[in-house]
Amino acid sequence: MHLHWHRRDIRLADNRGLRTGNGATVPVFVFDPVVLDHAAPPRLAFLLDSLESLRDEYRSRGGDLLVARGNPRVLLPKLASDLGAETVTWNRDYSGLARQRDDAVREVLADRDIEFRTVHDAVHHEPGTITTNDGDPYKVFTYFSRKWHERGKDEPVDPPDEADLAPAEQIRSEHALAELPTLSDLGFEQPEATIQAGGTAPARELLAEFCEADIYRYGQERDYPARACTARLSPHLRYGTIGIRAVYAATEAAKQAADTDTERESVTEFQDQLAWREFYTQVLWDRPDVVTQNYKSYEHDIEWNEDETALQAWKDGMTGYPIVDAGMRQLREEAFMHNRVRMIVASFLTKDLLIDWRQGYEWFTEKLVDHDTANDNGGWQWAASTGTDAQPYFRVFNPMKQGKDYDPDAEYIREYVPELDGVPADVVHSWHELDDGARHMHAPDYPAPIVDHSQRREEAIEMFERARGD
Ligand SMILES: Cc1cc2nc3c(=O)[nH]c(=O)nc-3n(C[C@H](O)[C@H](O)[C@H](O)COP(=O)(O)OP(=O)(O)OC[C@H]3O[C@@H](n4cnc5c(N)ncnc54)[C@H](O)[C@@H]3O)c2cc1C
Repeated sequence: MHLHWHRRDIRLADNRGLRTGNGATVPVFVFDPVVLDHAAPPRLAFLLDSLESLRDEYRSRGGDLLVARGNPRVLLPKLASDLGAETVTWNRDYSGLARQRDDAVREVLADRDIEFRTVHDAVHHEPGTITTNDGDPYKVFTYFSRKWHERGKDEPVDPPDEADLAPAEQIRSEHALAELPTLSDLGFEQPEATIQAGGTAPARELLAEFCEADIYRYGQERDYPARACTARLSPHLRYGTIGIRAVYAATEAAKQAADTDTERESVTEFQDQLAWREFYTQVLWDRPDVVTQNYKSYEHDIEWNEDETALQAWKDGMTGYPIVDAGMRQLREEAFMHNRVRMIVASFLTKDLLIDWRQGYEWFTEKLVDHDTANDNGGWQWAASTGTDAQPYFRVFNPMKQGKDYDPDAEYIREYVPELDGVPADVVHSWHELDDGARHMHAPDYPAPIVDHSQRREEAIEMFERARGD
């Protein structure tokens, strides 16, 4: 028998670890208190939904999902011994905390003479395999991406058959939970946001729908939040409810079916985002300290502002900058935010409010359903001019211009900021130029801008110049 430890691979199809052990498979998921300490309701709700669908899928094939709660280092040897499993397999995770945990599990399994196999699954090209000619990890995305695109990609692997799974009646352990826990069993409140459905079926549907049509306009329209043409696969890729090879294969099929060069380029542009995901995975693997430290060092500390009132206005979507507020409210309502708007709100926090990126990252960690340490941190440090490839410190997004360029009809803004309902788009986009009387006439409940962008832009540049020692 073989125990497969599911972690960020909540699926049967296109799961390499699941196909690697000897004999019938017993799948297990462990609720680790250390991971729960870092969890938040939106992500946990998505995970529980996905685990329920994983369990049902195993049951429909005559097997079952074993669920346990506690330290994997203690539990996995006990579960392996209860079930008579000779091998334990898992797919590799590259973040700092996960690597420490996995090293500890490896050590204890080796001590008990239990064989283990760790498998390359979550990315196409593992960290450390795409490097400069000197063997160093790339610090600049463009070079990484070029090699990422050139390399061949593996095909998806089939799910296990019924015959590959241990029958449900043999899956018993006194160390397992009788049922999947609920959010409240785990000590969490229900999320305030509406969370998108977890599990493999919704993931496959999203992918199929996206590859049918939206992928062909992705290249031109992905930056416009009201046009909703992105895949919405991020929580699925985060929890592995869909395999990365399956995603790539579907995009390649779409490329084959494309009618024009523009459509083919659009597919490549989408694949480029998958490369960004692997670039940031590699950055975090190489520099686990980036979770709390700037990737890029400056001569002196950056003198960020401490401003609780401004931070709260940002979190509440009450800054008086319509595109920023729409994004922050989308986050509260859906535990999601469009990529362009994530860039805008992150730039606003760090360059207009001059607040440390770590405070924004912490809020995203709590609120995003797709929070992924590598991508979230990469996105924040890019916006804050402290990351790899970062936005140069002197290039500061103008939030009004961003709103006008990427939401010209203010459709996205009005969807999330109802106070601006009925206000003409040109008024919405010149909110910062109106006097109090005009603002009151158009939208009495919507605030005036809490800072002056032009002034803050200069202060931000000076703040970075001091940090550089200029
Ligand atoms: C400040 C900030 C924070 C972010 N936090 C996260 C996060 O916690 N989790 C997360 O998955 N993404 C994060 N991103 C990247 C990006 O915003 C999301 O991946 C994207 O919006 C998810 O929507 P989608 O699945 O429709 O994306 P699509 O545009 O359809 O992209 C497909 C997939 O490619 C990957 N991807 C797309 N853009 C990026 C990117 N810039 N960096 C890395 N991977 C990317 C994601 O896995 C995404 O699901 C962040 C970006 C910024 C600027």
